[in-house]
Amino acid sequence: MDGLSVHACERCPRLVESRSQIVNGTGPADADLLFLGEAPGANEDEQGEPFVGRSGSILDDALRDAGLARADVRITNCVRCRPPENRDPTTEELANCRGYLERELDLVDPELVVTLGKVPSEHLLDRSVAVTKEAGDVVDVRLGERSYRAVVSVHPAATLYDGSQRQTFFETIARAADTAGVGDGDGGQANLGDF
Ligand code: URA
Repeated sequence: MDGLSVHACERCPRLVESRSQIVNGTGPADADLLFLGEAPGANEDEQGEPFVGRSGSILDDALRDAGLARADVRITNCVRCRPPENRDPTTEELANCRGYLERELDLVDPELVVTLGKVPSEHLLDRSVAVTKEAGDVVDVRLGERSYRAVVSVHPAATLYDGSQRQTFFETIARAADTAGVGDGDGGQANLGDF
């Protein structure tokens, strides 16, 4: 690992086979808000950037609603290589990539980490998480020698299959921005002064 990026890694033979490249985190190296996803999908694997497919546009929409742009935040994944057929990363793959995540968190030192979905929430909190029930909760997490504040969120893709999750997701991102002290601080509501 060189700074925040991994340029070569062959720890997970099945992922080395399925990836076309390693997908590192993007965004400012000193971001206040860090979004943590599960693993790259097909679009991310192709473009070399996290959350650039449909889930990414939902994340962009929620960020905009909270007064933020993608360029303001750090976005990364628990696992940096695309699993075959978009399956969940295995426990071993998560463990193999954990050191890279810990190093990225240590260097970026965000005010708040937002865990996008079940896999990253359980990976960071080290317990089972009912994401729909716990969405928006602010928790303290211990990672190696460090501790961080985190907000549990449903995965942006969940809003595609269940309309009620859309409000949950947008409210969680707005709360995360407020908690981290970034964004427009109006809780994600359209500002009447804009009309
Ligand atoms: N879903 C994730 O968890 N990560 C991505 O990078 C894209 C979609």
